[in-house]
Amino acid sequence: MIGNVILVGAGPGDPGLLTRKGRWAIRQAQVVVYDRLVSPAILALIPAGARTIDVGKEASHHKVPQHEINEILLREAQAGYRVVRLKGGDPFLFGRGGEELELLKAHGIPFEVVPGVTSALSVPAYAGIPVTHRDFCSSLHIITGHAKAGAELKIDFEALCRTRGTLVFLMGVTALPMICEGLLKAGMDPAMPAAVVERGTTPRQRKLVSTLGELPQAAQAARIESPAIIVVGKVCQLSDQFDWFDALPLKGRTVVVTRPRDRAGTLSKKLRALGAEVVEYPCIETVERAENPALDAAMEQLGRYRWLVFTSPAGPEIFMERLLKRGLDARALAGVKLAAIGPKTAGALGRCGLRADLVPEVYDSGHLAKALEAVEGPVLLCRASRGSQALPELFSARGIPFDDIPCYDTVYESPDAGAVLPLLEGETWVTFTSASTVRGFVQSLPGADLSHVLGLCIGEQTAREARTHGLTVRVAREATMESLVELIRETGERE
Ligand code: SAH
Repeated sequence: MIGNVILVGAGPGDPGLLTRKGRWAIRQAQVVVYDRLVSPAILALIPAGARTIDVGKEASHHKVPQHEINEILLREAQAGYRVVRLKGGDPFLFGRGGEELELLKAHGIPFEVVPGVTSALSVPAYAGIPVTHRDFCSSLHIITGHAKAGAELKIDFEALCRTRGTLVFLMGVTALPMICEGLLKAGMDPAMPAAVVERGTTPRQRKLVSTLGELPQAAQAARIESPAIIVVGKVCQLSDQFDWFDALPLKGRTVVVTRPRDRAGTLSKKLRALGAEVVEYPCIETVERAENPALDAAMEQLGRYRWLVFTSPAGPEIFMERLLKRGLDARALAGVKLAAIGPKTAGALGRCGLRADLVPEVYDSGHLAKALEAVEGPVLLCRASRGSQALPELFSARGIPFDDIPCYDTVYESPDAGAVLPLLEGETWVTFTSASTVRGFVQSLPGADLSHVLGLCIGEQTAREARTHGLTVRVAREATMESLVELIRETGERE
């Protein structure tokens, strides 16, 4: 059977700018052939079973020559695979997408094209530059500033000047002085606003707004590097007024997220939306106890319990799945009241069609214990091994009968310390969502100097653990993810 090739534009860098159709294409791919400019967050969408081929091009020497890329696409499709060719920005704008299709067409390979958000439009937008504006211009021109090694730029600068439109140059960092000189010689005003934007739409975006006459020197002084785009035109003067991306509260900040891999997504997304560069560094993982005779026995006589208590979203998920596997269902909980430590855990119950009867006002085990101090037992605690002692201590003190059954273990992962070690030299913001993430983090960096770590903690117990390791901490007002994000935003705004 013959395969196919989908040419997909991955957008300029911000993973949120990948199209839905592009995401669908990546998810169904068996082979992905990708470029240098595709962001890691998009590469992370590639299914685990798919094969990836990096044909990333370096600025001056091509890592894989174009004809070889064309041949790779042909070979993989002929072998019957669903191939995705992932390219930065839009595949047809200076992306050589056309050339890649020629060989496929000649061999009768079916192909599709998923356009992408091009850097030529989106990078100016993230720099506060509308590429057209009725007061300033009525056309937009996108030009390549790439010249073959040693050759002159083949650009008709006079023609460009006559358009009086906005000029966007791609691949123009090396040729920046020549581009500006060409425009000046063709009669453009040296005072014409001009800008260069490096790594646009990413947390490391840098922009420089100047004039045509002064841009080359300013760019050299700031050591602007590829990938960057150059914008020339009056619209550049709006950049300060419409600055929004660089003004985000966490712009330029790196935040380490230590949540388990499968739960990191939302926190990371929220922090990215505030402009942060997120380093996902999963320090713990929740693993269900496969052998759990104590829990199995409790499940056979659930009617005995007055309360069932969960202290994390993993609790209800694991409990209900096991219940179903044993041939029971939610009806086995009839008459049993349910307590959840916080709204996320209550939400996990909700997804199983169950309503929490009790959620404490403050979402930690101390407050949960307090909220349960007058209940009648027996109570079934379904939670992590090595959980907080607050609940068992309270129940013992009050004479409330209870069974504390570990349902899952929190195991420490060994994340790649290399991702965090270089950050530790300066102030490093690390989010902690449980005491175990603190322990996992500290264990993963033996001997490292943690004196510059600012621990952004979800609650008091987490903060207490962080303090015992000598970390400086700030604590969220309420023990929720929203409140933690708020704390990080406020910390960013205060800096
Ligand atoms: N097909 C791509 C462009 C490929 S040419 C698109 O539609 O965006 C590569 C050039 O694109 C780079 O040299 C740079 O000029 C520009 N570019 C791509 N991503 C960029 C980014 N995030 N920030 C600034 N320029 C970028």
